[in-house]
Amino acid sequence: MYLTELRIEGFKSFGKPVTLTFSHNIVAIVGPNGSGKSNIAEAFRFVLGEQSMKSLRGKRGEDLIFNGGNKLPQSNRASVTAVFDNKDRIFADAFDEVAISRTVHRDGTNEYRINNTPVRHQDIIDLFARANVGATNHHIISQGEADRVLSATPEDRKEILEDGLGLRILQFRRSETEKKLKKASGNIAETEAVLRELSPRLQYLKRQVKQREKAQALREELINCYATYLSYESAFLRAEETRLNDALGVFRDEQRDVEAAIAKERKGVAALSSSDTQYRKKEASLFTKLTNIREQKSAAIRDLGRCEGAIAALENSQATLPTEETVRRHDLEELYNDMSKRCEADSVNYSALVTLFLQRLRNLIRQSCGGGEDTGKRHRELLHEQKELQEGIASLEEEEASCLLAQKELAEEKECALQSARDAEKSLFVLRTRNHEAEQKIAEATRLLEDLKDRNRRFEEELREGHALVGAAINNYKSESAPKRFADKENKEQEMRRRDIERKKIRLEEIGTGMDTEVFKEYEEITDRVTFLQQERQDLLDSITDCEQGIAVIQKEIDTRFAQGVRKVNKEFERFFKILFDGGKAKIVPEERVIEREGEDPEVRLGIAVHISLPRKRITSLNQLSGGERTLTSIALLFAISQITPPPFLVLDETDAALDEANSQRYGSMIERLAKKSQLILVTHNRETMHRAGILYGVTMNTTGSSALLSIQFDEALQVAH
Ligand code: ATP
Repeated sequence: MYLTELRIEGFKSFGKPVTLTFSHNIVAIVGPNGSGKSNIAEAFRFVLGEQSMKSLRGKRGEDLIFNGGNKLPQSNRASVTAVFDNKDRIFADAFDEVAISRTVHRDGTNEYRINNTPVRHQDIIDLFARANVGATNHHIISQGEADRVLSATPEDRKEILEDGLGLRILQFRRSETEKKLKKASGNIAETEAVLRELSPRLQYLKRQVKQREKAQALREELINCYATYLSYESAFLRAEETRLNDALGVFRDEQRDVEAAIAKERKGVAALSSSDTQYRKKEASLFTKLTNIREQKSAAIRDLGRCEGAIAALENSQATLPTEETVRRHDLEELYNDMSKRCEADSVNYSALVTLFLQRLRNLIRQSCGGGEDTGKRHRELLHEQKELQEGIASLEEEEASCLLAQKELAEEKECALQSARDAEKSLFVLRTRNHEAEQKIAEATRLLEDLKDRNRRFEEELREGHALVGAAINNYKSESAPKRFADKENKEQEMRRRDIERKKIRLEEIGTGMDTEVFKEYEEITDRVTFLQQERQDLLDSITDCEQGIAVIQKEIDTRFAQGVRKVNKEFERFFKILFDGGKAKIVPEERVIEREGEDPEVRLGIAVHISLPRKRITSLNQLSGGERTLTSIALLFAISQITPPPFLVLDETDAALDEANSQRYGSMIERLAKKSQLILVTHNRETMHRAGILYGVTMNTTGSSALLSIQFDEALQVAH
């Protein structure tokens, strides 16, 4: 026995709380019409979670609550609690006793509780499904529903059968798995949609990140290139500036020295040129002096000739004395011309000239007045004159020699001075050449310094550009070591480094230098999200596979158990049928029905058909059965189903109402048989049925308009029932 108690409070006609205890397998509820018996059967439906108000004979939730009666106020809520013994764990609950309750309030809201813990309606359905109490409630046969199994559609009948066979739990598991599958499919569709949505963004970000990583790598390369290039460049600029300034200093010093030397040499040359004039003057003076001496000498020689001629003539005339004293005209003209010429000379020594003139004139006179007694005197004078002339000539020759010597010395002196001048000119030329060279060197060094300034400007410019590209890392070059001296090789390599930097700069500018951290952040976030979604999709795919496999396994079990169930039910159905009809045949057959609907594909539905054959009667359809026959067939099938997978309890509300006495007895026997596996709660007016009950409850409607309950004996029951 599983059902131990049913507590009803405020439900329908039960204005006051009542408790039915089920300490026997067959409990009969008896009472006059309208006392509230069926309300007890409905209390079972209610607590089992029935949602159909029609099945509860109401329209709204409020209809289920006691409306009040004579001196008894209406209830605010209707509540029913069914208590089960769960020691055999018929419910998947850890407690030994399970109390399931449902309360409906006047506003129509429902509350469900399991062991006083609020739960959902579905939890109640699930709980009962696990205990073979299906949602079709085939084990609660309400009043007037005795032939319910027959009047149901084949599809509904199939559901009743499935409930009865305890397939609900499997169907429930299948449905849960299908829901899970649907949810997983929905989730996978959503996940894939999100993945599809994220994919282009991720691809874009991937490209961005790759490009930025490339740029970053390029930037690192550029930093290294810059460090080497700039350290070399900086060292070169410093070294070159020092070198050029030093060289310039040296060249300028050299130029200064050369210029000083030139000035000095110029002075020397100038002095020499002025002394040249002096030499010329001296030469001219010596020349004039020499000419004079020579002329005087010539005149003296001529005079000496005349003197000696006169002497000779005088000495010859001592034999032939002259008769007249005359001065020859020719001699006078000669004297005159000679004196005139001498007077025209540039530098005339007039005193010497006058002396010479007088001397020659006296000689002419003496020559013209020779003879007589003066001849001796004259001879002496001539001799004296000859002597003077000879001495004069000798003196002039000395003077001439001295003059010639002076001339020679002057020439030598002049030559020496000229040589010095030439040497000075040569030296000046050399100095000027050196000066020119120094100027060229200074100009070259200055030009190189200007070039260096340009290079330094480019260096500064490079630093600025580099800073814009690589930031503060541009200063890394300061800690790099570079050579102190530069060979051509380094300069070529430096040029190659510069070109390499240019290429890298261009590439970096092409790629873009912006290091947008947001892109990296978003890429990481989206990558994580995509990885998560991919994992989730895989999990969902696994889950879908598991669900599909699970559904297939469950379905296979349902199909197997259904087929086995149909065979077992048929065996019991025919047996019960034969008992009730004293023969005949009955069976249920699974059959497919094709439902045609306009504009839709035909739907194939599986149902259960009932085929019977009554003894001694030929019937072709269930519709041809009488009311009693329908009830008996229905009971036979219901009882057959209940035999296969017995429910914990069966509620039968006046199922036996239409039975005659003979069938009532057979029905009674079947009830006893059924009670061995399930508890039976029977609302009845039937004496045979009452007779089989272990507990009898009498229901009466008291004066307050509320149903009342009392435990009674069989005899009392007979009275109460009628
Ligand atoms: P019968 O033997 O004729 O089938 P019964 O004993 O099964 O009768 P029920 O159908 O259970 O009787 O009870 C019907 C009674 O319940 C009616 O008298 C009705 O007035 C009463 N009833 C139904 N709903 C309420 C309600 N909400 N409040 C008060 N009484 C109600």
